[in-house]
Amino acid sequence: MSTPKPITIIGGGLAGLTLGIGLRQRGVPVTIWEAGRYPRHRVCGEFISGNGQAVLERLGLLARCQQAGAVPARTVMFVCGPHRSPVRPLAAPALCLSRHKLDALLAETFRHTGGELREQARWTTAEAGEGLVYAAGRRPQPVDKSPRWFGLKAHVPRHGAVPLEADLEMHVMRDGYIGVNRINDGEVNVCGLFRVRADERQPESKAERLRGDPGSRLRERLRLAEFDPDSFCSVAGLPLQPQRAAARAECCIGDRLTMTPPVTGNGMSMAFESAELAVAPLADYSQGRLDWLGARQRLAQGCDAAFARRLVWARHLQWMLLAPALQGRLGARLLRSEWLWRFLFERTRY
Ligand SMILES: Cc1cc2nc3c(=O)[nH]c(=O)nc-3n(C[C@H](O)[C@H](O)[C@H](O)COP(=O)(O)OP(=O)(O)OC[C@H]3O[C@@H](n4cnc5c(N)ncnc54)[C@H](O)[C@@H]3O)c2cc1C
Repeated sequence: MSTPKPITIIGGGLAGLTLGIGLRQRGVPVTIWEAGRYPRHRVCGEFISGNGQAVLERLGLLARCQQAGAVPARTVMFVCGPHRSPVRPLAAPALCLSRHKLDALLAETFRHTGGELREQARWTTAEAGEGLVYAAGRRPQPVDKSPRWFGLKAHVPRHGAVPLEADLEMHVMRDGYIGVNRINDGEVNVCGLFRVRADERQPESKAERLRGDPGSRLRERLRLAEFDPDSFCSVAGLPLQPQRAAARAECCIGDRLTMTPPVTGNGMSMAFESAELAVAPLADYSQGRLDWLGARQRLAQGCDAAFARRLVWARHLQWMLLAPALQGRLGARLLRSEWLWRFLFERTRY
């Protein structure tokens, strides 16, 4: 048998590490370049919903997440100004684990399987060569594009201080939304996505922004909450236009391929799913059964087939949530519609 060809992965986030583990399980030599180091906080609702949990189970990672303290989220509630939805059961429970723990757990597992992980090593070459996979996260949106999106996250150490009615509460405002959910170790994740206008005055502090509008139900919820100062992180210039894998010249997975609006809570799942879709074609390339172009094309077809529909519905959902009509009576009716909720939950995940 000939020596397997190596794979180099740029980016040791969820997609890159998951792919690295899957390839190592098939005996492929893998090196991951990661610009940062572990553990680290990431802007994320830390709410894994959709097929991603099944991927973790198939790779033998689900039990490790549970041992690390991941907790299930079973119910959700939407709040929009004076209106709110009923507390609803999720059609399938989500899994909630801080990225601080999750990324470090995957990094340790990758190393344990014999992969080479280069921390604090930024890949700077622009080439899209053979054996190279881009898992480097979102492509920053060009600065002149409008509106611009930014995300912000912090943890509250004890959830006793945040009296939640549902495992996930989504608080929708005129220009964004803030999700509040329980995660591991009795902590609460508070994570928001905001649309920024050029003339907008920034709030005095990130904590102020995360507490929501004065007088809102969210502000009341977080009245006694003290944020962990080390857990604050933010990200700007989010590209929320869906992309097709077949249009890409390079081999890419996760957010590098395309981002789904964070309101779906499906981005991590898509990172895991795209990584799993990449394992077989890249292992075939490595072991000489497929050339590089063939491997890239098989991966691209798999990703487009899996994600195209849900990306379209995710955009509809985000548009609907931020449409001014949702703040009025129509919004109150939509928030109560059981049929609409079930339909959008299914369409934005599967
Ligand atoms: C506000 C917000 C809330 C969200 N909430 C949720 C949620 O609740 N549920 C959910 O499922 N998803 C959520 N997401 C989406 C989710 O966080 C992403 O989809 C997921 O992190 C994508 O994983 P990834 O591995 O593709 O990218 P990342 O996790 O971003 O990893 C990319 C990695 O590449 C590294 N890197 C970048 N460039 C280089 C380079 N040149 N050389 C070496 N390394 C490099 C980075 O350091 C990083 O570690 C949210 C996103 C936002 C913005």
